[in-house]
Amino acid sequence: MCGIVAYLGREDAYPVLIKGLKRLEYRGYDSAGVALLNDGEISLHKCKGKVSDLESHVGVPNVAGSVGIGHTRWATHGPPNDVNAHPHLSGKGDLAIIHNGIIENYNTLKEELINRGHHFESETDTEVLAHLIEEVRSNTDTSLFEAVRISLNEVVGAYAIVVMDKNNPDQLIAAKKSSPLVIGIGEDGTYYVGSDATPIVEYTKNVVYMEDEEVALLDRTKGLKIVTIQNREKTPYIQELELHLEALEKGGYDYFMLKEIYEQPRSIRDCFRGRISLQKGMVRLSGIEVHEEKWINAKRIIIVGCGTSWHAGLVGEYLFEDLARIPVEVEYASEFRYRNPVINSDDIVIAISQSGETADTLAAIQLAKSKGAHIFGVCNVVGSTISRETDSGCYTHAGPEIGVASTKAFTAQVTVLTLMALAVAQKRNAISAERLHRLIVEISSLPDKVQTALESNKMVEHISGIYKDARNALYLGRGYTFPVALEGALKLKEISYIHAEGYPAAEMKHGPIALIDEEMPVFVIATHGQSYEKVVSNIQEVKARKGKIIAIVTAGEQHVLTLADHIIEIPKTDDALVPIVSVIPLQLLSYHIALMRGCNVDQPRNLAKSVTVE
Ligand code: GLU
Repeated sequence: MCGIVAYLGREDAYPVLIKGLKRLEYRGYDSAGVALLNDGEISLHKCKGKVSDLESHVGVPNVAGSVGIGHTRWATHGPPNDVNAHPHLSGKGDLAIIHNGIIENYNTLKEELINRGHHFESETDTEVLAHLIEEVRSNTDTSLFEAVRISLNEVVGAYAIVVMDKNNPDQLIAAKKSSPLVIGIGEDGTYYVGSDATPIVEYTKNVVYMEDEEVALLDRTKGLKIVTIQNREKTPYIQELELHLEALEKGGYDYFMLKEIYEQPRSIRDCFRGRISLQKGMVRLSGIEVHEEKWINAKRIIIVGCGTSWHAGLVGEYLFEDLARIPVEVEYASEFRYRNPVINSDDIVIAISQSGETADTLAAIQLAKSKGAHIFGVCNVVGSTISRETDSGCYTHAGPEIGVASTKAFTAQVTVLTLMALAVAQKRNAISAERLHRLIVEISSLPDKVQTALESNKMVEHISGIYKDARNALYLGRGYTFPVALEGALKLKEISYIHAEGYPAAEMKHGPIALIDEEMPVFVIATHGQSYEKVVSNIQEVKARKGKIIAIVTAGEQHVLTLADHIIEIPKTDDALVPIVSVIPLQLLSYHIALMRGCNVDQPRNLAKSVTVE
């Protein structure tokens, strides 16, 4: 994680850096810092806490300089404190560096450097890199650009870095491996650097997404030069950004999370727009069309993801097996890659990641690729690393998601997986024209149904007030709604810090039922459909043990009404689409409970959004 921003231009760097850091704060908020270069001196300002703490720490800004670097940290090496905050300086204080990633061999490098007389201030791996570059530069008497390149050959691990040199006010050096980095090209030798394009978008639309093991020289007069760490020159590929500034603002909502929850009718529509045809009764996804044979002949699908994306993947399993009749395995990316899994060339691996930068997912697809599997990406961020590393893919088009707890990205991922399962089902003749048509009609009505589900907000807020002080909570679902139970529990855990577990409703009797007493809220998704009767029986079991039952039910439900303590109604839809509608009240629930408990909804403790470390 960590957010990186840098500026080299003619204006004051400080406001650009601060604004950029605020945009990147979703990536980490353990500490924040900036370094500015002015009159041959580096001024360094950094402190534990958020970017707003940094602003108060700096006070009335006496931070002139038209070159600068800024960082917002998600600590990996060394606790979050002022000293470990980035930027870090080299031993002589000539260089300042910001870093996102982990230098795995930092200890070995550090020991060698200590033996050569270096002294370290912080516990971070990053500071080692600053000293290493300085050491290489003084030993080889070479340019900073060359010194960074040579140093990175000694580094094992992941990095996105920007280095500033007090003796070179016209240059910045940027480099990356496994962590993302984007360069924005402004007018008259002005450059911007960001972990993503959000700090750049309001200044320029021309960007270069750096590739792994590339080092870039940004020079006011000589322009942009990129080489690999093996010193092979590359021609920068300049792309036009599609991101819009309004998408990065709160738009009148108090929190990004709430805004993103309410955006779902639109984001779901954006996701299926142009991909389904009601008239033709067809689903078309170009990412599947181009490799049609692979999908027709696939023996197995493996879905990899982490967190919420893994939950979306579980829904994907039900969808692909139900609709396209292909066996599916869903894997935590982090487990998959270290397990020596059996991967065949007729397997298709679907990698799901909102940011498209999730380190574990990236590593999993690299492994699967090396075994010859076809790799398909489901990402939200356009141009992200995973979207570039995969053989083909499908963007979710949910728009930027800033709240750390994922909401609209989940429903968009599930929408994409539904479209994929249907597109493949058509090609394999696994679905009747009638069922396909019915589902397409249902998909097109999803935005309205999600809108109606959002109208449960008042009721959800009322229920939140009753259960906000619970210490534990149980979420139950069955079939298509089991992953929704997991997702609901995750939402509650991550933003309100209440311990919550999601279970397949029938599994409750194999253990968790022991936890049920009159204190325990049990959230059950009991919508009409295949598992309805069974779930109602599970509700009876909870009731018999005096658990508090909050049921998400289909509008007009009568029976559960008599059993549950509270019900939340959602519109009726096909079983396969229930996850998208039923998750809405659970998202709202976690939002309200977190708010009532005084938690920071958008930036929950210890978390960060784009998990670029393993
Ligand atoms: N390893 C660096 C630190 O702990 C950067 C962390 C990161 O990018 O997440 O400061």
